[in-house]
Amino acid sequence: MREAILKFLRCPACKGNLLTLNRGLVDNIEIRGGEITCGRCAAVYKIEDGIIDFLNNADERIMRERRAMDAEEYITDASGNKYRITEATIEKFKDKFLAMPQGDRSYFFKRGGSFQSITEASDRFYSALENLRLTGREKILEIGASFSFASSKFAKIGCSAVALDIGNYLKVSSLFVKNAYYDRVFSDMHNIPFQDNTFDIVFGAAVLHHSNSLKEVFSEIHRVLKTGGRVMLINEPSRGIFERVHPVFEEMEKKGYGDISYTIPDWLRSARRGGFKKSKIEFLSLADDYITRHKNRDTPDNFKLRLARFFQNHRGIEKILLAILILPRLLFRQKSWRLSAYK
Ligand SMILES: [Zn+2]
Repeated sequence: MREAILKFLRCPACKGNLLTLNRGLVDNIEIRGGEITCGRCAAVYKIEDGIIDFLNNADERIMRERRAMDAEEYITDASGNKYRITEATIEKFKDKFLAMPQGDRSYFFKRGGSFQSITEASDRFYSALENLRLTGREKILEIGASFSFASSKFAKIGCSAVALDIGNYLKVSSLFVKNAYYDRVFSDMHNIPFQDNTFDIVFGAAVLHHSNSLKEVFSEIHRVLKTGGRVMLINEPSRGIFERVHPVFEEMEKKGYGDISYTIPDWLRSARRGGFKKSKIEFLSLADDYITRHKNRDTPDNFKLRLARFFQNHRGIEKILLAILILPRLLFRQKSWRLSAYK
Protein backbone atom coordinates (compact mmCIF):
# COMPACT_ATOMS: atom_id res chain seq x y z
CA MET A 1 0.00 0.00 0.00
CA ARG A 2 0.93 3.65 -0.30
CA GLU A 3 0.03 6.26 2.27
CA ALA A 4 -2.13 8.24 -0.18
CA ILE A 5 -4.88 5.60 0.00
CA LEU A 6 -5.46 6.28 3.73
CA LYS A 7 -7.68 9.30 3.20
CA PHE A 8 -10.13 7.26 1.09
CA LEU A 9 -10.42 4.26 3.41
CA ARG A 10 -13.31 3.48 5.72
CA CYS A 11 -13.26 1.00 8.57
CA PRO A 12 -15.48 -1.95 7.55
CA ALA A 13 -16.33 -2.64 11.21
CA CYS A 14 -17.60 0.78 12.39
CA LYS A 15 -17.74 2.68 9.04
CA GLY A 16 -15.53 5.39 10.52
CA ASN A 17 -12.69 7.05 8.65
CA LEU A 18 -10.19 7.77 11.42
CA LEU A 19 -7.61 5.28 10.25
CA THR A 20 -3.98 5.52 11.24
CA LEU A 21 -1.00 3.78 9.77
CA ASN A 22 1.79 1.99 11.65
CA ARG A 23 4.55 1.37 9.17
CA GLY A 24 6.42 -1.91 9.21
CA LEU A 25 8.47 -3.09 6.28
CA VAL A 26 8.89 -0.48 3.52
CA ASP A 27 10.63 -1.03 0.16
CA ASN A 28 11.34 1.36 -2.72
CA ILE A 29 7.83 0.89 -4.11
CA GLU A 30 5.44 0.76 -1.17
CA ILE A 31 4.68 -0.11 2.44
CA ARG A 32 4.96 -3.90 2.46
CA GLY A 33 4.11 -4.59 6.09
CA GLY A 34 2.57 -2.98 9.14
CA GLU A 35 -0.95 -2.30 10.27
CA ILE A 36 -3.81 0.16 10.06
CA THR A 37 -5.74 0.97 13.21
CA CYS A 38 -9.22 2.43 13.49
CA GLY A 39 -9.30 5.40 15.86
CA ARG A 40 -12.99 4.92 16.48
CA CYS A 41 -13.49 1.18 17.16
CA ALA A 42 -9.83 0.13 17.63
CA ALA A 43 -10.04 -2.55 14.91
CA VAL A 44 -6.62 -3.50 13.56
CA TYR A 45 -6.00 -4.40 9.91
CA LYS A 46 -2.73 -6.03 8.94
CA ILE A 47 -0.63 -5.10 5.93
CA GLU A 48 1.21 -8.07 4.41
CA ASP A 49 2.96 -8.30 1.03
CA GLY A 50 1.76 -4.74 0.45
CA ILE A 51 -1.91 -5.82 0.71
CA ILE A 52 -4.22 -4.41 3.41
CA ASP A 53 -6.29 -7.20 4.92
CA PHE A 54 -9.82 -6.06 5.80
CA LEU A 55 -11.14 -9.59 6.15
CA ASN A 56 -11.05 -9.89 9.94
CA ASN A 57 -14.61 -10.29 11.18
CA ALA A 58 -15.87 -10.88 7.62
CA ASP A 59 -19.06 -12.86 7.20
CA GLU A 60 -18.80 -16.68 7.58
CA ARG A 61 -20.04 -17.14 4.00
CA ILE A 62 -17.07 -15.11 2.74
CA MET A 63 -14.55 -16.93 4.91
CA ARG A 64 -15.95 -20.28 3.76
CA GLU A 65 -15.39 -19.26 0.15
CA ARG A 66 -11.90 -17.97 0.96
CA ARG A 67 -11.02 -21.39 2.44
CA ALA A 68 -12.45 -23.16 -0.63
CA MET A 69 -10.36 -20.92 -2.90
CA ASP A 70 -7.28 -21.38 -0.76
CA ALA A 71 -7.50 -25.16 -1.24
CA GLU A 72 -7.30 -24.74 -5.03
CA GLU A 73 -4.97 -21.78 -5.37
CA TYR A 74 -1.96 -23.23 -7.10
CA ILE A 75 -0.37 -23.19 -10.55
CA THR A 76 0.01 -26.57 -12.29
CA ASP A 77 2.83 -27.06 -14.80
CA ALA A 78 2.88 -29.41 -17.82
CA SER A 79 4.21 -32.31 -15.70
CA GLY A 80 1.40 -31.93 -13.18
CA ASN A 81 3.51 -30.32 -10.43
CA LYS A 82 1.48 -27.96 -8.27
CA TYR A 83 2.85 -24.66 -6.97
CA ARG A 84 1.17 -22.73 -4.16
CA ILE A 85 1.21 -18.92 -4.45
CA THR A 86 4.49 -18.05 -2.74
CA GLU A 87 7.20 -15.52 -3.54
CA ALA A 88 9.21 -18.30 -5.21
CA THR A 89 6.21 -19.32 -7.39
CA ILE A 90 5.58 -15.72 -8.40
CA GLU A 91 9.23 -15.40 -9.45
CA LYS A 92 9.26 -18.78 -11.24
CA PHE A 93 6.18 -18.01 -13.37
CA LYS A 94 6.87 -14.30 -13.70
CA ASP A 95 6.77 -14.27 -17.52
CA LYS A 96 3.43 -16.14 -17.53
CA PHE A 97 1.79 -13.66 -15.14
CA LEU A 98 3.17 -10.71 -17.08
CA ALA A 99 1.74 -12.16 -20.33
CA MET A 100 -1.83 -12.04 -18.94
CA PRO A 101 -4.50 -11.94 -20.21
CA GLN A 102 -3.67 -12.91 -23.80
CA GLY A 103 -0.89 -15.33 -22.77
CA ASP A 104 2.28 -16.46 -24.51
CA ARG A 105 0.84 -19.56 -26.24
CA SER A 106 2.61 -21.82 -23.75
CA TYR A 107 1.05 -24.83 -21.99
CA PHE A 108 -0.35 -22.71 -19.14
CA PHE A 109 -2.67 -20.77 -21.44
CA LYS A 110 -3.78 -23.78 -23.50
CA ARG A 111 -6.64 -26.19 -22.92
CA GLY A 112 -6.32 -27.69 -19.43
CA GLY A 113 -3.66 -25.18 -18.40
CA SER A 114 -4.03 -23.04 -15.27
CA PHE A 115 -4.70 -19.85 -17.26
CA GLN A 116 -6.86 -21.22 -20.10
CA SER A 117 -9.97 -19.31 -19.05
CA ILE A 118 -8.00 -16.05 -18.81
CA THR A 119 -6.71 -16.30 -22.40
CA GLU A 120 -10.08 -17.36 -23.75
CA ALA A 121 -11.73 -14.31 -22.18
CA SER A 122 -8.92 -11.93 -23.20
CA ASP A 123 -10.79 -10.43 -26.15
CA ARG A 124 -13.71 -9.61 -23.86
CA PHE A 125 -11.33 -7.81 -21.52
CA TYR A 126 -9.79 -5.72 -24.30
CA SER A 127 -13.22 -4.96 -25.69
CA ALA A 128 -14.27 -3.74 -22.21
CA LEU A 129 -11.11 -1.65 -21.94
CA GLU A 130 -11.87 -0.01 -25.28
CA ASN A 131 -15.46 0.60 -24.22
CA LEU A 132 -14.37 2.31 -20.98
CA ARG A 133 -12.42 4.95 -22.98
CA LEU A 134 -10.08 5.70 -20.10
CA THR A 135 -8.21 9.00 -20.14
CA GLY A 136 -5.77 8.03 -17.39
CA ARG A 137 -7.31 10.38 -14.83
CA GLU A 138 -9.92 7.94 -13.47
CA LYS A 139 -9.98 6.37 -10.03
CA ILE A 140 -10.89 2.71 -10.53
CA LEU A 141 -11.85 -0.05 -8.13
CA GLU A 142 -11.52 -3.57 -9.47
CA ILE A 143 -13.55 -6.10 -7.49
CA GLY A 144 -12.74 -9.81 -7.66
CA ALA A 145 -9.40 -8.87 -9.15
CA SER A 146 -7.77 -12.32 -8.81
CA PHE A 147 -4.22 -11.94 -10.24
CA SER A 148 -5.22 -8.33 -10.92
CA PHE A 149 -3.85 -7.98 -14.45
CA ALA A 150 -6.80 -5.66 -15.21
CA SER A 151 -5.79 -3.21 -12.47
CA SER A 152 -2.28 -3.41 -13.82
CA LYS A 153 -3.52 -2.37 -17.28
CA PHE A 154 -5.56 0.50 -15.74
CA ALA A 155 -2.48 1.67 -13.82
CA LYS A 156 -0.35 1.55 -16.97
CA ILE A 157 -2.81 3.92 -18.66
CA GLY A 158 -2.22 6.27 -15.72
CA CYS A 159 -5.38 5.61 -13.71
CA SER A 160 -5.30 5.33 -9.97
CA ALA A 161 -6.48 1.79 -9.30
CA VAL A 162 -7.30 -0.45 -6.36
CA ALA A 163 -7.61 -4.23 -6.73
CA LEU A 164 -9.91 -6.00 -4.27
CA ASP A 165 -10.30 -9.74 -3.75
CA ILE A 166 -10.68 -12.37 -1.04
CA GLY A 167 -8.19 -14.89 -2.49
CA ASN A 168 -4.41 -15.25 -2.43
CA TYR A 169 -3.96 -14.95 -6.20
CA LEU A 170 -3.98 -11.23 -5.43
CA LYS A 171 -0.43 -11.64 -4.04
CA VAL A 172 0.81 -11.92 -7.65
CA SER A 173 0.17 -8.16 -7.83
CA SER A 174 3.61 -7.68 -6.17
CA LEU A 175 4.99 -8.40 -9.62
CA PHE A 176 2.71 -6.04 -11.56
CA VAL A 177 3.15 -3.06 -9.23
CA LYS A 178 6.84 -2.88 -10.12
CA ASN A 179 5.80 -1.60 -13.58
CA ALA A 180 2.80 0.59 -12.71
CA TYR A 181 1.60 1.09 -9.15
CA TYR A 182 -1.86 0.34 -7.76
CA ASP A 183 -3.16 -0.53 -4.28
CA ARG A 184 -4.58 -3.89 -3.20
CA VAL A 185 -6.98 -4.90 -0.45
CA PHE A 186 -8.41 -8.16 0.80
CA SER A 187 -12.06 -7.40 1.40
CA ASP A 188 -15.63 -8.55 1.18
CA MET A 189 -17.41 -6.79 -1.74
CA HIS A 190 -20.54 -6.48 0.45
CA ASN A 191 -18.63 -4.13 2.78
CA ILE A 192 -16.14 -2.17 0.68
CA PRO A 193 -13.51 -0.44 2.87
CA PHE A 194 -13.78 2.91 1.05
CA GLN A 195 -15.69 6.10 1.73
CA ASP A 196 -18.74 7.20 -0.26
CA ASN A 197 -18.16 8.83 -3.68
CA THR A 198 -14.56 7.66 -4.08
CA PHE A 199 -14.38 6.03 -7.53
CA ASP A 200 -15.13 7.00 -11.13
CA ILE A 201 -15.32 3.37 -12.21
CA VAL A 202 -15.93 0.02 -10.55
CA PHE A 203 -14.89 -2.89 -12.74
CA GLY A 204 -15.50 -6.59 -12.16
CA ALA A 205 -14.94 -9.77 -14.16
CA ALA A 206 -16.85 -12.90 -13.12
CA VAL A 207 -17.26 -11.83 -9.50
CA LEU A 208 -20.74 -10.58 -8.55
CA HIS A 209 -22.35 -13.98 -9.15
CA HIS A 210 -20.48 -15.09 -6.01
CA SER A 211 -22.91 -12.98 -3.99
CA ASN A 212 -26.18 -14.36 -2.66
CA SER A 213 -27.43 -10.79 -2.43
CA LEU A 214 -26.74 -8.98 -5.71
CA LYS A 215 -28.81 -6.02 -4.56
CA GLU A 216 -26.55 -5.53 -1.55
CA VAL A 217 -23.37 -5.55 -3.67
CA PHE A 218 -24.87 -3.16 -6.21
CA SER A 219 -25.86 -0.79 -3.44
CA GLU A 220 -22.34 -0.96 -1.99
CA ILE A 221 -20.83 -0.25 -5.43
CA HIS A 222 -23.31 2.61 -5.85
CA ARG A 223 -22.17 4.06 -2.52
CA VAL A 224 -18.44 4.13 -3.40
CA LEU A 225 -19.02 5.49 -6.93
CA LYS A 226 -18.99 9.23 -7.58
CA THR A 227 -22.09 10.78 -9.17
CA GLY A 228 -21.79 10.08 -12.90
CA GLY A 229 -19.60 7.07 -12.13
CA ARG A 230 -19.98 3.75 -13.89
CA VAL A 231 -19.85 0.10 -12.93
CA MET A 232 -18.91 -2.38 -15.65
CA LEU A 233 -19.25 -6.12 -15.20
CA ILE A 234 -17.97 -8.70 -17.68
CA ASN A 235 -17.76 -12.51 -17.82
CA GLU A 236 -20.58 -13.03 -15.35
CA PRO A 237 -22.42 -16.28 -15.92
CA SER A 238 -26.14 -16.05 -16.40
CA ARG A 239 -28.96 -18.39 -17.11
CA GLY A 240 -31.64 -18.16 -19.78
CA ILE A 241 -35.10 -17.51 -18.39
CA PHE A 242 -36.19 -21.00 -19.51
CA GLU A 243 -32.83 -22.61 -18.86
CA ARG A 244 -32.28 -24.92 -15.87
CA VAL A 245 -29.50 -24.25 -13.36
CA HIS A 246 -26.33 -25.98 -14.58
CA PRO A 247 -25.25 -28.85 -12.26
CA VAL A 248 -21.81 -27.24 -11.89
CA PHE A 249 -23.37 -24.69 -9.50
CA GLU A 250 -24.35 -27.48 -7.10
CA GLU A 251 -20.83 -28.92 -7.23
CA MET A 252 -19.35 -25.48 -6.53
CA GLU A 253 -21.67 -25.04 -3.55
CA LYS A 254 -20.51 -28.38 -2.08
CA LYS A 255 -16.89 -27.26 -2.37
CA GLY A 256 -17.68 -24.09 -0.45
CA TYR A 257 -17.94 -21.65 -3.35
CA GLY A 258 -20.77 -19.17 -3.41
CA ASP A 259 -21.51 -19.15 -7.16
CA ILE A 260 -25.14 -18.45 -8.03
CA SER A 261 -26.87 -18.69 -11.40
CA TYR A 262 -28.86 -15.49 -12.05
CA THR A 263 -30.91 -14.54 -15.12
CA ILE A 264 -30.48 -11.23 -17.00
CA PRO A 265 -33.73 -9.84 -15.48
CA ASP A 266 -32.30 -10.73 -12.02
CA TRP A 267 -29.15 -8.72 -12.84
CA LEU A 268 -31.07 -5.68 -14.04
CA ARG A 269 -33.54 -5.76 -11.16
CA SER A 270 -30.73 -6.00 -8.59
CA ALA A 271 -28.85 -3.09 -10.15
CA ARG A 272 -32.02 -0.99 -9.98
CA ARG A 273 -32.75 -1.99 -6.39
CA GLY A 274 -29.14 -1.22 -5.51
CA GLY A 275 -29.76 2.37 -6.58
CA PHE A 276 -28.73 2.43 -10.25
CA LYS A 277 -31.39 4.22 -12.25
CA LYS A 278 -29.69 3.67 -15.58
CA SER A 279 -28.21 0.35 -16.60
CA LYS A 280 -27.68 -1.50 -19.84
CA ILE A 281 -26.86 -5.01 -21.02
CA GLU A 282 -24.81 -5.56 -24.15
CA PHE A 283 -24.82 -8.93 -25.87
CA LEU A 284 -21.37 -9.31 -27.37
CA SER A 285 -20.21 -10.82 -30.64
CA LEU A 286 -20.51 -14.61 -30.66
CA ALA A 287 -18.08 -14.85 -33.60
CA ASP A 288 -15.28 -13.09 -31.65
CA ASP A 289 -15.78 -15.39 -28.70
CA TYR A 290 -15.79 -18.51 -30.84
CA ILE A 291 -12.66 -17.54 -32.73
CA THR A 292 -10.69 -16.57 -29.60
CA ARG A 293 -11.55 -19.89 -27.97
CA HIS A 294 -10.70 -22.05 -30.95
CA LYS A 295 -7.56 -20.16 -31.91
CA ASN A 296 -6.26 -20.96 -28.43
CA ARG A 297 -7.14 -24.63 -28.88
CA ASP A 298 -5.47 -24.78 -32.31
CA THR A 299 -8.69 -26.18 -33.80
CA PRO A 300 -8.10 -27.09 -37.47
CA ASP A 301 -9.95 -24.92 -39.95
CA ASN A 302 -13.55 -26.03 -40.35
CA PHE A 303 -16.87 -24.71 -41.61
CA LYS A 304 -17.92 -23.12 -38.27
CA LEU A 305 -14.61 -21.25 -37.96
CA ARG A 306 -14.84 -20.01 -41.54
CA LEU A 307 -18.40 -18.86 -40.88
CA ALA A 308 -17.32 -17.07 -37.68
CA ARG A 309 -14.53 -15.33 -39.61
CA PHE A 310 -17.00 -14.31 -42.28
CA PHE A 311 -19.11 -12.61 -39.57
CA GLN A 312 -16.01 -10.95 -38.12
CA ASN A 313 -15.32 -9.45 -41.55
CA HIS A 314 -18.94 -8.47 -42.11
CA ARG A 315 -19.90 -6.74 -38.85
CA GLY A 316 -23.10 -5.32 -40.33
CA ILE A 317 -24.50 -8.78 -41.04
CA GLU A 318 -23.45 -10.04 -37.60
CA LYS A 319 -25.12 -7.07 -35.92
CA ILE A 320 -28.44 -7.80 -37.65
CA LEU A 321 -28.23 -11.49 -36.72
CA LEU A 322 -27.34 -10.65 -33.10
CA ALA A 323 -30.30 -8.28 -32.88
CA ILE A 324 -32.61 -11.07 -34.08
CA LEU A 325 -31.01 -13.43 -31.55
CA ILE A 326 -31.49 -11.21 -28.47
CA LEU A 327 -34.80 -12.73 -27.43
CA PRO A 328 -33.70 -16.37 -27.87
CA ARG A 329 -30.47 -15.55 -25.98
CA LEU A 330 -32.44 -13.97 -23.16
CA LEU A 331 -34.77 -16.97 -22.93
CA PHE A 332 -32.32 -19.82 -23.37
CA ARG A 333 -28.67 -18.85 -23.06
CA GLN A 334 -26.77 -15.56 -23.14
CA LYS A 335 -23.15 -16.57 -23.58
CA SER A 336 -21.10 -13.41 -23.86
CA TRP A 337 -22.60 -10.22 -22.40
CA ARG A 338 -21.69 -7.28 -20.21
CA LEU A 339 -23.51 -4.93 -17.90
CA SER A 340 -22.91 -1.23 -17.35
CA ALA A 341 -24.77 0.90 -14.81
CA TYR A 342 -24.41 4.61 -14.11
CA LYS A 343 -24.80 6.55 -10.87
ZN1 LIG B 1 -13.65 1.10 13.13
